[in-house]
Amino acid sequence: MSVNTAIQLITREQAENAAKSAAAGKATATCSPALAKGPWEYDLAEALAGVPAYGPGASNADVAPAATPRQGQLPEEYKLASHGELDVRIRAAKEKLGSRAVILGHFYQRDEVIQYADFVGDSFQLANAALTRPDAEAIIFCGVHFMAETADILSTPEQAVILPNLAAGCSMADMADADSVEECWEQLEEIFGTEKDDAGRVPVIPVTYMNSSAALKAFCGRNGGIVCTSSNAKVVLEWAFERGQRVLFFPDQHLGRNTAKAMGVPLEQMPMWNPRKELGGNDEQALLDSRVILWHGFCSVHKRFNVGQIEKARADFPGVNVIVHPECPMEVVDAADSAGSTDFIKKAIAAATEPTTFAIGTEVNMVNRLAAEYPQHTIFCLDPVICPCSTMYRIHPGYLAWVLEELVEGRIVNRITVADNVQESARTALERMLAARP
Ligand code: SF4
Repeated sequence: MSVNTAIQLITREQAENAAKSAAAGKATATCSPALAKGPWEYDLAEALAGVPAYGPGASNADVAPAATPRQGQLPEEYKLASHGELDVRIRAAKEKLGSRAVILGHFYQRDEVIQYADFVGDSFQLANAALTRPDAEAIIFCGVHFMAETADILSTPEQAVILPNLAAGCSMADMADADSVEECWEQLEEIFGTEKDDAGRVPVIPVTYMNSSAALKAFCGRNGGIVCTSSNAKVVLEWAFERGQRVLFFPDQHLGRNTAKAMGVPLEQMPMWNPRKELGGNDEQALLDSRVILWHGFCSVHKRFNVGQIEKARADFPGVNVIVHPECPMEVVDAADSAGSTDFIKKAIAAATEPTTFAIGTEVNMVNRLAAEYPQHTIFCLDPVICPCSTMYRIHPGYLAWVLEELVEGRIVNRITVADNVQESARTALERMLAARP
């Protein structure tokens, strides 16, 4: 059963039994019944309120910056169409477009959309997959904004990258905006200076997680820095420590902390930089003594996982194998059997030769698909509450049908374009990452 279907059922049941449930203090099994609505309703609510938001789901409580792209209203016919009608229209448009269009679907995308993807993977795998289709005039990225930007950087200028719902951002990526990072950099330069040490290492190297805006990747490119993914964060930090005395890591504090800790960096040498505070909330000496300065960012999906869930899984399923994503908080990673990227999680499950129970700490759409793909194992999400990545969830088949049918008519809507000067520096940081591969 897809996450969307489960939410629809839960919501219907809740509506029917609302009074009973309230009286019994029964917990909801989805973090937001509003997830059952069409995302165009949030688009409309945002337009009326004049402020962007992330919509219901895991990032609901995060504050979207004022400059966050907003989706205009979807034509009525796509809102009114049933899933069956949309299915027919999407398949027909896809067939008409043939090799002119390629659809990319992120692991965390909902089933109702992922079924049309030509490639399914993590953000970097998908951007690379698009490179195998140079004949495609349009790359339809069913992921979030920063992913579409990366695809635009890596694709040819003739290819148009399309994000079916412009409001599909990433709250974590938005937590480090270019102005705040520039401001932080200036303050760090004042403290550290710019001189190299005796070993030829600069005072600080900026490292950005793939889950960041193109502007931040470009910042890293311009300042001797690099991009990392959750698969290669250790290799990238090794690269950075060879060239720098310390690292400024953004936007995800958890990936930075978990990776550096596993490499032996003491926690007291990993101060956090809160952009809303003077010197990020640190004294000068703490910054001078630092090895990794962690940006105050996090993923609201992975922040939901906690040690109590792992303890419960271990009590309910003795021998359970707990695997979590390194965007989870440190204590969760410490309590798990292993931690790794979505690719790591997939490979760990594929490698199990005996029927095994896996409790997984990552986005629920991906976990449910793994459970369906490997019926010989018992696979479940550590979080018992169904709470998908709210921004990814804003891509509904209605939006996919719309962008595809517009393409058939020769019109490109929702194109994501990264400015040439930003592309160039961002590509430098991405190329350093590729060269840093072990
Ligand atoms: S899962 Fe977290 S990091 Fe990934 S797109 Fe959603 S909010 Fe961003």
